[in-house]
Amino acid sequence: MSYTEVPGVRVPIRMWADPATVESGAMQQLRNVSSLPWIKGLAVMPDVHYGKGATVGSVIAMEGAVCPAAVGVDIGCGMSAVKTSLRAHDLPTDLSRLRSKVEEAIPVGRGMHGDPVDPGRLFGHPTGAAAGWDDFWSRFDGIADAVRFRRERAAQQMGTLGSGNHFWELCVDTEDAVWIMLHSGSRNIGKELADHHIGEAQRLPHNQGLVDRDLAVFISGTPQMDAYRNDLYWAQEYAKHNRAVMMALSQEVVRREFRKAKVTFEPVISCHHNYVSEERYEGADLLVTRKGAIRAGGGDYGIIPGSMGTGSYIVRGLGNSAAFNSASHGAGRRMSRNAAKRQYTTRDLEEQTRGVECRKDSGVVDEIPGAYKSIEKVMDQQRDLVEVVAKLKQVVCVKG
Ligand code: 5GP
Ligand code: MN
Ligand code: MN
Repeated sequence: MSYTEVPGVRVPIRMWADPATVESGAMQQLRNVSSLPWIKGLAVMPDVHYGKGATVGSVIAMEGAVCPAAVGVDIGCGMSAVKTSLRAHDLPTDLSRLRSKVEEAIPVGRGMHGDPVDPGRLFGHPTGAAAGWDDFWSRFDGIADAVRFRRERAAQQMGTLGSGNHFWELCVDTEDAVWIMLHSGSRNIGKELADHHIGEAQRLPHNQGLVDRDLAVFISGTPQMDAYRNDLYWAQEYAKHNRAVMMALSQEVVRREFRKAKVTFEPVISCHHNYVSEERYEGADLLVTRKGAIRAGGGDYGIIPGSMGTGSYIVRGLGNSAAFNSASHGAGRRMSRNAAKRQYTTRDLEEQTRGVECRKDSGVVDEIPGAYKSIEKVMDQQRDLVEVVAKLKQVVCVKG
């Protein structure tokens, strides 16, 4: 399927979703975004749903402006995945031990590392750091005063999953290869930077009287935009390192638990799905915000998760410029968390996660597979955006 064009205010809304299935609140948000004076294009992914200010599952291309609420409060949230040399038959029937070893190695929920992780030990680099690590931390002093006193905590949270829908999974693909996959972003420091700048933007004179105050923007060439961009890119890097650290910790656990198998790993795939990047389209330099969307330029690897019971896809981008080289970031929610809690019980959760070593208590009922759209349908709706590299089904799922 290709896209359906719906009229917007300044630009048409290109939808890789059936407009009839999109809730009215989300449609209104798309119209609002299409009315921004800097807007050059708006692409809507099949996992679109209502969000703060702008929908989740959309790509906003603007010239000379960025809307910080449209980036999302978890700057740099995204996915990482790695294919291991393990095969399905190498796995024990009872995966609870592996699950608890992972939970010991990677703090989840509010947990953090007592001592910050040592990149030298983790990445085994002769200078004791992952690529860009030292440079990254040296730029900490340049971020907003409002959060800079959080340095110690930011260091302790580096390499932690966080809560909500962040997750860690062990998966098996259709060819029986075992994969590790995880979902997390820039933790508290990223959220604090996002909240700080969303507030700053809302106070600017040019943002008064907007249809939705969460559409407040920063304009290129202003000190506020410079400060935001600095912090935004730093937080995106934090998220990238956060996932890299957790991947390294995961690989340690898997190596240790399957010592005899001498496990090896292919290169790690990592993609943000809440972020801004500067890209050029038809001769114009644009600020492209992917809010619940991944980059899918020609050949780019991406990760599209489904839900805690339905599995996920590893994809390669087809470079469709009509979608600003993007694709969906998941299946997307079909109903709100509250609606899911009303509709489903832990019994349903057990049924829908059969065969997955994971939590099955009332605390995760709002994450039940039935609360998400069909990943198969979503994949079908974006066949002109990505090609499938591997189809994965989880056997362990650790929820944040
Ligand atoms: P978000 O970043 O918007 O919170 O979530 C990204 C996507 O991940 C969701 O739209 C959903 O399709 C998918 N997802 C949510 N929970 C899980 C999970 O536990 N496992 C997998 N594989 N996918 C999930
Ligand atoms: Mn996310
Ligand atoms: Mn997140």
